[in-house]
Amino acid sequence: MLFSRQTNGIRIKTARELELMRTAGRIVAEVHARMREMVQPGVTTADLDAAAEAIIRGYDAIPAFVDYPNARQGGPVFPATLCTSINDELVHGIPSRQRVLAEGDIISIDVGAIYKGYVGDSGWTYAVGQVSDEAQRLLEATEGSLWAGIAQATVGNRFVDVSRAVQQFAEERGFSIVREYTSHGVGSKMHEEPQILNFVPTDRRDAARSYPAMNRRLSAGMTFALEPMVNAGVWETRVLDDEWTVSTKDGRLSAHFEHTIAITDGEPEILTKLS
Ligand code: MG
Ligand code: MG
Repeated sequence: MLFSRQTNGIRIKTARELELMRTAGRIVAEVHARMREMVQPGVTTADLDAAAEAIIRGYDAIPAFVDYPNARQGGPVFPATLCTSINDELVHGIPSRQRVLAEGDIISIDVGAIYKGYVGDSGWTYAVGQVSDEAQRLLEATEGSLWAGIAQATVGNRFVDVSRAVQQFAEERGFSIVREYTSHGVGSKMHEEPQILNFVPTDRRDAARSYPAMNRRLSAGMTFALEPMVNAGVWETRVLDDEWTVSTKDGRLSAHFEHTIAITDGEPEILTKLS
């Protein structure tokens, strides 16, 4: 989600809410299983979008991104089921019949589904055929940073513990963490409190404003979408003329991995994993 400074309460989900989120998460996981099969040279991002929408609607669920409001007041709403972001694009790419996947591309596919009012949200970056060594290392570092964050998402830890683990994993491998977009709470809305930064702010005074939840502790029943976005070059990004697609400022590669998880008294539960 786009970085903002608002803060409110963090909702603890009931057993019933968690059950609905499990179903929403499974639908999203099934979409990713299909994407994994479909991603290959020659496929258009519109083809991927149509397949994803059919799966979601087949479960009487609703694609969560359709008509999502633009960050700019009066800007265009998001027009599709998937965000499909290729190579230097990291998030919010718009599916199109003109975008054809080519050997060596990487494509980040983000999907959200709403089932009976509850949201599953998951993104994954896929290699199209054989990719460069740098692309392969970036994919591994970004997925690894997600799992490093999930491993810290346990009762009693602070949000900043999750952020630090994500950042360290990516930076130790020579990559940079995107700052302008964050991980987030999720539930009956796609973006709930808190914002969870994928890095630790270094300026202590600014941290109190930019990351008000950083020293709060995690409790069982909280649900989050953890989603590191990791760049091969600089961390800065820019929004393209379509007012949605976000690309790296330097044109180098970016990757994005995201799971919706629930905090439990033991290991975190991955809600967007096929079980
Ligand atoms: Mg997402
Ligand atoms: Mg998300």
